[in-house]
Amino acid sequence: MKRVRTVFKPEQLERLEQEFLKQQYMVGTERVDLAATLHLTETQVKVWFQNRRIKWRKQSMEQKAAKLSQFGVIQPASADSTDIKDHEEDTVDGKGLFATKNIRKGETVFVERPVVSSQFLWNALYNYRACDHCLRALESAEENAQRLLGNSSLVLPHPEQCGIRKDLHQQCPRCQVMYCSAECRQTAWEQYHRILCLGPSRDDPTHPLNKLQEAWRNMHYPPETSSIMLMARMVATVKQAKDKEAWIKTFSQFCSKTANEEEEIVHKLLGDKFKGQLELLRLLFSEALYDEHLSRWFTPEGFRSLFALVGTNGQGIGTSSLSQWVHACDALDLPMLQREELDAFIDQLYKDIEKESGEFLNCEGSGLYVLQSCCNHSCIPNAETSFPENNFLLHLTALEDIEAGEEICISYLDCCQRERSRHSRNKILRENYLFTCSCPKCLAQADDADVTSDEEEEGEGETDDAELEDEMTDV
Ligand SMILES: [Zn+2]
Ligand SMILES: [Zn+2]
Ligand SMILES: [Zn+2]
Repeated sequence: MKRVRTVFKPEQLERLEQEFLKQQYMVGTERVDLAATLHLTETQVKVWFQNRRIKWRKQSMEQKAAKLSQFGVIQPASADSTDIKDHEEDTVDGKGLFATKNIRKGETVFVERPVVSSQFLWNALYNYRACDHCLRALESAEENAQRLLGNSSLVLPHPEQCGIRKDLHQQCPRCQVMYCSAECRQTAWEQYHRILCLGPSRDDPTHPLNKLQEAWRNMHYPPETSSIMLMARMVATVKQAKDKEAWIKTFSQFCSKTANEEEEIVHKLLGDKFKGQLELLRLLFSEALYDEHLSRWFTPEGFRSLFALVGTNGQGIGTSSLSQWVHACDALDLPMLQREELDAFIDQLYKDIEKESGEFLNCEGSGLYVLQSCCNHSCIPNAETSFPENNFLLHLTALEDIEAGEEICISYLDCCQRERSRHSRNKILRENYLFTCSCPKCLAQADDADVTSDEEEEGEGETDDAELEDEMTDV
């Protein structure tokens, strides 16, 4: 049966968009009222919201490029590894990490724990359940696959390869936030959660912290590249700390920018629509967390700096029980026939999941990493970051042999973006990280005409809602 496409009037669309900004789900009497106001049926409103959510998730996948960041001069306080040291560098972006001994392809250069991290608010709202401290996914691999597939009867083979230990999970006894272990609960409590624990006010929309989070969600849709809660955790960490200066020093290692650059970053993070609302966020932030020891973070300039710091240094974190299970399955020593069967099963599973959930698979958040944030960008990187332990521990792995003295570079672009023309690559780098790349690849291509690559031109047009409606209703 072919459905009739609804053609919305511009004023109806405008109002629907306004409502969507406020909330992604419209139900009950609110939906009845809105439909009546707009002279639409309730079903039309319902379907529009369904489609709008799909479109919004699609946008979030498309831009899911790993959020690696930095520029400015950074002084790592301590290197966890003796294999690397940092140099004062003349480059425009970061500061530079250099190998102090030969590193082989595939070798782990270092494993780093963030000084602070947080799951993205929308990600959490969408039932991507993760440890509130280390971001370890809390669902079993099977539950994870079931949710992403929308199929609660899926059974995964080799369940013993799933590393999720529900018996170790813990709640904050006051606010019921979940942790993967007693250690995470304890660490969070000692570092920042004493200040941020909502206790019985967890669901109270008038609590200052809830107001702050709500305001952030309304301004900052997926793809989230940063979270206001990362900033809240920084403040809470200092507030709770005995040695406040040590923490302030730790955070001050991350880049600082000129006022103009900070403006640009704020603009980029909040988008055109909301760039003027930084002041609102600042007021809510102050209401929730003001501390006289940190008064400069609450001034308009200080808050903008904090915002820019998190925006440019926040490294994206992605964790997944399913991918941990897949890695464990890959490592199994199986007879050939069983191996082929399992591989085919996994391939099909990913295809089916992609159909249902796109590439939006992980528990996502961001964190501040001292060493990683010293790594400069290259369009032909010799190292990459990953999160193979299903938590916030960042692994930097060599993509090729790196000789002693050579700079270790990661790419702030994903692999598709790296294939684009020099012009396209630098457009992205300038917009997101405010620098122009002078890596060997960019230098070699310096004489190429200033054209954007083909893929840049396509995909700009928005899919209209009518098309999406068919996609949706046919499911
Ligand atoms: Zn944890
Ligand atoms: Zn709590
Ligand atoms: Zn380059």
